[in-house]
Amino acid sequence: DFAKSNSLAQQRQYLPIFSVRDELLQVVRENQVVVVVGETGSGKTTQLTQYLHEEGYTNNGIVGCTQPRRVAAMSVAKRVSEEMETELGDLVGYAIRFEDVTGPKTVIKYMTDGVLLRETLKDADLDKYRVVVMDEAHERSLNTDVLFGILKKVVARRRDFKLIVTSATLDAQKFSNFFGSVPIFRIPGRTFPVQILYSKSPCEDYVEAAVKQAMTIHITRPPGDILIFMTGQDEIEATCYALSERMQHLVSTTSGKARNLLILPMYSQLPADLQAKIFEKPEDGARKCIVATNIAETSLTVDGIYYVIDTGYGKMKVYNPRMGMDALQVFPVSRAAADQRAGRAGRTGPGTCYRLYTENAYLDEMLAQPVPEIQRTNLGNVVLLLKSLNVENLLDFDFMDPPPQDNIVNSMYQLWVLGALSNTGSLTNVGWKMVEFPLDPPLAKMLLIGERFKCLNEVVTIISMLSVPSVFFRPKDRAKESDDAREKFFVSESDHLTLLNVYQQWKANEYRGDWCNDHYLQLKALQKAREVRSQLLDILKTLKIGLSSCGPNWDIVRKAICSTYFHNAARMKGVGEYVNCRNGMPCHLHPSSALYGSGDMPDYVVYHELILTTKEYMQCVTCVDPRWLAELGPMFFSVKDSDTSMLEQTKKRKDEKSVMEEEIE
Ligand code: ADP
Ligand code: MG
Repeated sequence: DFAKSNSLAQQRQYLPIFSVRDELLQVVRENQVVVVVGETGSGKTTQLTQYLHEEGYTNNGIVGCTQPRRVAAMSVAKRVSEEMETELGDLVGYAIRFEDVTGPKTVIKYMTDGVLLRETLKDADLDKYRVVVMDEAHERSLNTDVLFGILKKVVARRRDFKLIVTSATLDAQKFSNFFGSVPIFRIPGRTFPVQILYSKSPCEDYVEAAVKQAMTIHITRPPGDILIFMTGQDEIEATCYALSERMQHLVSTTSGKARNLLILPMYSQLPADLQAKIFEKPEDGARKCIVATNIAETSLTVDGIYYVIDTGYGKMKVYNPRMGMDALQVFPVSRAAADQRAGRAGRTGPGTCYRLYTENAYLDEMLAQPVPEIQRTNLGNVVLLLKSLNVENLLDFDFMDPPPQDNIVNSMYQLWVLGALSNTGSLTNVGWKMVEFPLDPPLAKMLLIGERFKCLNEVVTIISMLSVPSVFFRPKDRAKESDDAREKFFVSESDHLTLLNVYQQWKANEYRGDWCNDHYLQLKALQKAREVRSQLLDILKTLKIGLSSCGPNWDIVRKAICSTYFHNAARMKGVGEYVNCRNGMPCHLHPSSALYGSGDMPDYVVYHELILTTKEYMQCVTCVDPRWLAELGPMFFSVKDSDTSMLEQTKKRKDEKSVMEEEIE
C-alpha cells in the first residue's frame, strides 16, 4: 500500500506536478499571472502553495488559495499542514464563512472564494497577499467569476502581486485571454485508461441501479474502491442504507465469508470527522465504496478508485426568472462533468466507469460544458457587494461571461424591495448595514427587521440555525423514534420557531451533548449554530446594534419572518398545496414540516427556500397573517380579498399574464 509504506514527503515527490516543479516556478517568476492546467490529482491544490512557500514568496506576504467549496478548503488545509508537519491553524490554515482557523504565523491560507471576496471589502488591494491561487477555476462558481474581475484590477494596481489560476479541464484558453493572453502551464498527465460502459436503456430509479451495480462489482470484480455519484444528501443516505442492507444479506447467506464493504457517504453537510474517513485506508483490507455528490468530481481527490458509477445527475442552484427565485434543482450533468467523473477511475490504475444512462443521452441530451453559476443564480449578494465596492453600473463590470441582464435587473429589484437600494440604484443605509453580514440579503435584512421589532435575540438564533446542516438526526433504523422526538419540538405554526425552540431548549439544558443524543439532535450542528450566533453577535456589536428580546411572545418573531420572506409568500390552494402569491407558481408543504400534521393548514405561509425534487417543496415554513402581508405594500394589496379576486388582480399585471395562463392550463 502506497500511502502506508511511503512517508508524506515521498508521496509528494511522486505527484505529477513534482516533475515540473522548477519550470513551473520559473514561469511564475517571469509572469504576473499564470494559468495552470492539470488533471485532478496531479497536485495543484496541495503542492502549488507549498512550492510558493519554499520559493520564498511568503517572506513578504502570504499565499492565499481559494476553493469554491468549504469542504475542500478545510480538508486540503488539513492535508497540507500534515505534509508540512505543523498544526492546522499555525503555518497553514483555512477560513470559511463563520470559521477562521488561521493565526499570526499563517503563511498558507486556504479559503472559500466567498471569504476572499469579502476581504476585498476591507482591503481592496489585498495587501497581505503576495500570491493568490484561484483554484478550481473551471467550476466557475459565482464568487470565482466575480473575483476574476476584481483580481484583474489588483494585478494592474500591484506589480508585486501574483495570480495563479488553476483548472482541471481544458477550458484554460478563456482564462488566459481574460487576463491578456497570459501563459498556460500544463502539468503532464499520468492517468490510466478508463473503460466506459453505458446503460442500454434509460434507468428508472438510479439509486436502485447504482446499488445493484455496486454489489455486482463487489461480488464479481477484482479489488479496487468504488465511487458513486449521487445528487444530494437524501439520495446518498438512501444509497448507503440500501447498500448496507444488501451487504448484511450477503454476509448472512455466505455465512460471513463475503469480503467487507466499507460504505462511506460524502457530501458538504456531513460532519468533518466523517468526511475525513474517505481518505483513510480500511484496516481489514475491505473494499471502500464512497457515495458522493459532485464534490468528488474535482474538488477532493481520493486515490484507489477503480470503479466509478455515474448517475449522470447533479444538483445545481438555479435562478428561475419565471419563479423569481433560486431553487436547488436536479439536472443532468454536462459532458465535461461526466468525463471528469469517469476520470476518477483512472488515477491508480486502469479503471471502469459505469454510466447509468445511455450513450445517446450522453451525446444528445447533455450540454458540452456546465453553465457558469453567474448565469443561473440570483445575484443579490454580488450586486450588494459590487455596489459597496463602488461599482456604479454593474453592466460595466469586467465579467468573463456577463450575467443575463434579466438576472441583474431581478436581483436589483429584490434588493430595492428589501430596502437595500434606493430608487436610483445606490446603496441605502440599510444596504450598507446588510453588506456587513456574510448572509444572503433576505437573512441580513431579517436581522435588521429583528432589531426594529425588538426580537433580535430570537431572530439571530433562527438565522444561525438556518446556516447549519439539519439539527435533526434521523437514523434509518430508528426512523419512528427520531420522528417522534422531532415532533416534540414542533411549534405548530412555524418551522422557523421550531428551530428556535430546539436551540432554546438545548441552551436550557446547558448545551449538553447527552441531551442531544436523547432527543435525536445533532450536537455538531447545534454547536456550529452556537458559533455562528456568537459571530453574528460580534458583527452586531461593531455596528452598535443592541440585542433585544421579545420573550415568549413569538408572534412578533413570526411577523419579522413574514417581512423578510414576503417574496416567498404562498397561499393555500388545496391540502398541502400552495401557490406563490406573486407569480402563482405551485409549491408544496413537505411532510416533515411542523405545519403538516397540524390539522388545519394555514391559508398563508412564507418559506425559506424552494427545493425541486419530485415536486416543488417549500423548506422551512411559517404561517403568517395575511394582514401582515397586506401591510408590506402594494404587492400584496389583494390578500384580504378572496382567492379568486387575488388571481384576477395578478392576471391583470401584464407581464405576468402569460405565466398565469400557463399555470391554468
Ligand atoms: P489536484 O488539486 O491537482 O486535483 P491535489 O493536490 O488535491 O490534486 O491532490 C494530490 C494528491 O494528494 C491526491 O492524489 C491524494 O493522493 C493526496 N491528497 C489530497 N488531499 C488528501 C487528503 N485530505 N488526505 C489524503 N491524501 C490527500
Ligand atoms: Mg484541486
